[in-house]
Amino acid sequence: MPIEIIRCLSDNYAFLIHDPAAGEVTLIDAPEAAPILDVLADRGWNLTRVYLTHHHWDHVDGLAAIVEATGAEVWGHAGDAERLPKLNHAFVPGDELPGGAQVLDAPGHTLGHIALYYPELSALFSADSLMTHGCGRLFEGTPDQMFDTVARFAALPEDTRVYSGHDYAAANLAFAANYAPDAEALAARQAELPILARTGAPTTGTTLESEKLLNPYLRCHLPQVAAAAGVAGADPRAVFAAIRSQKDNA
Ligand SMILES: [Zn+2]
Repeated sequence: MPIEIIRCLSDNYAFLIHDPAAGEVTLIDAPEAAPILDVLADRGWNLTRVYLTHHHWDHVDGLAAIVEATGAEVWGHAGDAERLPKLNHAFVPGDELPGGAQVLDAPGHTLGHIALYYPELSALFSADSLMTHGCGRLFEGTPDQMFDTVARFAALPEDTRVYSGHDYAAANLAFAANYAPDAEALAARQAELPILARTGAPTTGTTLESEKLLNPYLRCHLPQVAAAAGVAGADPRAVFAAIRSQKDNA
C-alpha cells in the first residue's frame, strides 16, 4: 500500500494511504483541501475516510471542502469530539480502525492528540507529537505526558517510519545538534536535508532507528544528552523537560 505524502499550507503534511485490494483510500489530517483533492483526482482515487490526529486548525481546515467533494467519513478522538469538526465515527486509544490502523494515545501537544500506527505498513503517523528530529510544542499537556507519548513510540519496531505533521526537520536538526546526537548520523542528515529542500522532497518518514540517533527527545536516557542539556545526572524525564523548555526559549 503506497503512502502519498502531500505538502499543504506553508509547512504541513497530509497523508493518503491507498489500499488497492480493498478499494479504499484513507486521508490522515486535512490541512488544506486543494492539494489533497488534486492528488486524489490525479490518481483517480475515491476517498473513503479521514482520520484526524488533533483539533488544531491547520490539521482540519480543509476538511469541509474535502468531505463535500468526496463524501468521505470523518473519524476522530471521542474525548475531543467537541473541539473537532463533526465526526461520523469516534474512536478511543486502543481501537483498531478500518485499514489496519491502531489508535495510540499521544497527549502532550494537545490533550486529545492521537497517533495512528499501521503495523503492516511499518508506519506511524505521529502528527505534532513525535516529529522529525524533534517533538511538538506542549500547548496543553505536560512534559511528562509527552515523555510517555514518545516512550510509547520508542517501543515500536526500529524500522517503523515516522510521519509527522510538519516540515520542521531543518530547524529541529539544527537544535538537535546541540544535544550530542550520533555524529555520523548527524553529518549524513545535514548533507541530505539541503538536497531534499532543493527538490521539494518530503523530509518526514525517517525511521525510528535513525530518530534514536538524532532526536534528543528519544535520547534522554543517555548521559551525554543529559550533560549537553546542562542537567547531568538527572533522570530521563527531567532531561526531556529541560530540552523541551530550552527549545521553547531558543
Ligand atoms: Zn498542532
